[in-house]
Amino acid sequence: MSYNIAIDGPAGAGKSTIAKKIAAKMNFIYVDTGAMYRAMALHMIRSQVDPSDADKISETCQSADITIRYEDGEQVVYLNGENVNGLIRTEAVGNMASVSSVNPDVRKKLVELQQKLAGTADVVMDGRDIGTCVLPNANVKVYLTASTAVRARRRYDELTVKGENCDLKQIEADIEERDHRDMTRELSPLRQAEDAVLLDSSDMTIDEVVDAVIQMCGRKE
Ligand code: C5P
Repeated sequence: MSYNIAIDGPAGAGKSTIAKKIAAKMNFIYVDTGAMYRAMALHMIRSQVDPSDADKISETCQSADITIRYEDGEQVVYLNGENVNGLIRTEAVGNMASVSSVNPDVRKKLVELQQKLAGTADVVMDGRDIGTCVLPNANVKVYLTASTAVRARRRYDELTVKGENCDLKQIEADIEERDHRDMTRELSPLRQAEDAVLLDSSDMTIDEVVDAVIQMCGRKE
């Protein structure tokens, strides 16, 4: 049986940074499910889908073949055979992902892929619905959050380092809008699983959060 760690939480809470470190320390595979929704969103943008047209999103997701490979220990997302890792980290793709991920056909397709990965390997998987829906029997579940201001600042720093021109206030507004959409959607909304441990990383260092999660794994084994 594979060992599964589920990390959910809102945008910019530090999920991917934490999950990657835990995966490296425990020799697990890191599965970034947000990247899969982002690749699907890129497909929607390229197909010029109107975000308010649910039928078109359902139809268009059928022509997206999303696969995951691990190259030099990094998760690489392929969209119809193309490595799209370098194209999915923009705010535009993130905002579209938050809209298209509401669609049941999009979710069905990606959840199946995620469950398959977790069934065959020890994984640290992060997202919005991992503990509640994708891996309800995960060995350890964490709900990682931080204040909106801290999360906006982190995303701003991340984008600025990459040379993307961005506005802190706009990022904060986008984060609030995305959180609201992710938390209030009908299907698999973002919420803390009953058996998840809440960690607020606003005043914690990355290593403190990583150590806290690894301790939880120790307790469960
Ligand atoms: O985590 P990240 O910001 O990359 O995710 C982009 C969007 O994909 C989220 O805002 C959310 O709407 C969606 N998502 C989801 N379920 C997941 C992971 C991401 O709905 N498991």
